[in-house]
Parts: sequence; structure tokens; C-alpha cells
Amino acid sequence: MQILDGKIVSQVVKDNLKEKTLELIKKGSKAPHLAAILVGTNGASETYVASKVKNCEEIGFKSSLIRFDENISEAILIEAIEKLNTDDDVDGILVQLPLPKQISEEKIINLIHPDKDVDGFHPMSVGKMVQGLPTFIPATPYGIMLMLEHYKIDTKGKHAVVIGRSNIVGRPISILLSRNTNPGNCTVTLCHSHTPNLKEICLQADIVVAALGKPEFLKADMVKENAVVVDVGITRVADATKKSGFTIKGDVDFANVAPKCSYITPVPGGVGLMTIGALMMNTYNARLNKLK
Ligand code: NAD
Repeated sequence: MQILDGKIVSQVVKDNLKEKTLELIKKGSKAPHLAAILVGTNGASETYVASKVKNCEEIGFKSSLIRFDENISEAILIEAIEKLNTDDDVDGILVQLPLPKQISEEKIINLIHPDKDVDGFHPMSVGKMVQGLPTFIPATPYGIMLMLEHYKIDTKGKHAVVIGRSNIVGRPISILLSRNTNPGNCTVTLCHSHTPNLKEICLQADIVVAALGKPEFLKADMVKENAVVVDVGITRVADATKKSGFTIKGDVDFANVAPKCSYITPVPGGVGLMTIGALMMNTYNARLNKLK
């Protein structure tokens, strides 16, 4: 069994971007600029945004963090995004989800200019992804594809089972794995909360992507020998022994599943780190697209 190590692969991605950013600057361009919007003080969102800003700094990107109170109106957020859309200094815009109830996530996502849509959630980006055209690919599925590519995982003709059909993970990774690309070219089964016989389907999988948000859901008796297992889940589970009061759990029962696998991603240290690396790739590409 080999670990698919997000620490190693994301570092390769970031080192490469650091070098390419220096080259851009040498040629007279400014550094890529990511503007992140954070509404409220949700603990997990705070951590994700802080990490994105830190990674920008490490690579040599410019970043701006725009914070709003939990109670802001939708109109104020719309105004902020419209400003960033027309700000020539900003290459990528990221709105950290989830947003508070009074704000429509759909409206906000659709408002971000597709040229700056580094999260890849805009319908224009999604449509292009489905058609295999160059575009921004949502960071988590993109990160998984970069990981599979780095470890030269054989995907052609394999059966991939994806558990979870969200717009940000399950559905896009099912599309990416089924495209006529390398990695890709799998036969994909997309499972969700209404899928009967989930265990039987998982047992047929050469590759399982678990993205449902249920800690340790995927058990050893649901996985065939030598499968590749990608664990996307990140759930905070109460843990009084930890200073933070919680521990992070993935969607896979790692201790029992790992011995059966050919490759597996750990949590933490797997897909989460790749997600940030992929976001940084999208930000760099947003800058590059502008220069073209
Ligand atoms: P979501 O809640 O939007 O979607 C969950 C999906 O799982 C749904 O499609 C649902 O049908 C399916 N599901 C729920 N229970 C199921 C069951 N018992 N059997 C089969 N399918 C079931 O979640 P999401 O936003 O896609 O996130 C999923 C997990 O991935 C969460 O733990 C989230 O924190 C994590 N996540 C991690 C990263 C990362 O960078 N590693 C990024 C995004 C999300």
C-alpha cells in the first residue's frame, strides 16, 4: 500500500508555481492576485481562507482578504464582487462557502466574472469543463486529478465509483474521471444518498472517491483488494483530548481500509492540501490568461 501524499505533491505544485511566478515578474508582469471574501467567523472557513492567503504569500502571489460581518445584506456582497470584477489588479476572486442564509450562493457564484472564477463554480466554467474545453476546474476535483497524475495512477478503462454528487466535489470529479483524458477514461458510477446496494457497487470499484462528509463511512468490507481510495471527507469530530476540542476525520475508515489498498490518501495530509495547490494553479492561470 502506498500513501498518496498531499504534502509532497502540493509542494511540487507550489514550487513549480513559485518559479513560474518569478519568470512572469521578470518579464514585466505583476504577480497573480487572489481576492478572497470571507463572510462571518465560521471556524473551518477561517482556517481554509487563512491557509489560502498563506499559500499565496509562500508562492509570491498577491492576496487580499475582504471580510464581512455574518449579518451583511446580499446587496453589499454583490457590490463588493462587482467592484472586484472590474478591478484590473485582481486576477482571481474566491468567495468562501458556505454563506449565511440571507445570501443566495447561486446568485453570488453566477456574479463572479468567468475570467476570474478561480473556484470554477460559475456555470460557464462548469459547461466548459463538461465539454473538455480549457477552463477553471473546481479546486478539489482538480487537486485529485493532479494527485492521480503525479503518482501515474492507471485510470484508463478502470471502474471509478464516486460517493457524493455535490457541485463542488462529487459531480465534477465524476466528469473529470470519465473524460477522454489521462488521467480520466474511467467508467464512472456516481453514487449518492439514494443509491441502493452501495456496498456492492463499491466492491466493483478499481478507484473509490469518497466525498459524502460522513466520518469513516467507507469500511474495509466495501473495498476490493488493491483498490485506489481517495478520501475527500473533512469532518470535525468532538475530541476532548485535543486542545482545539476536535479531531479531523475523513470519510474512510483508514486504519482498516488502507491495508487492502494499492494507494490511499490520508486525512489530513491528502486531498485538502491538493485543493489549495489546485486553487493556486487556477490563480496563476487567471493571470496568464489576461496576458494572452
Ligand atoms: P455535500 O454535503 O454537499 O454532499 C454530500 C453528498 O454525499 C450528497 O450528494 C449526498 O447525496 C451524498 N451522501 C450523503 N450521505 C450519503 C450516504 N449515506 N451514502 C451515499 N451518499 C451519501 O458535501 P460536499 O461539499 O461534497 O463535501 C463532502 C465532504 O468533503 C465533506 O466532509 C467536506 O467537508 C469535504 N470537502 C473536502 C474538501 C477538501 O479539500 N478535502 C473540499 C470540499 C469538501
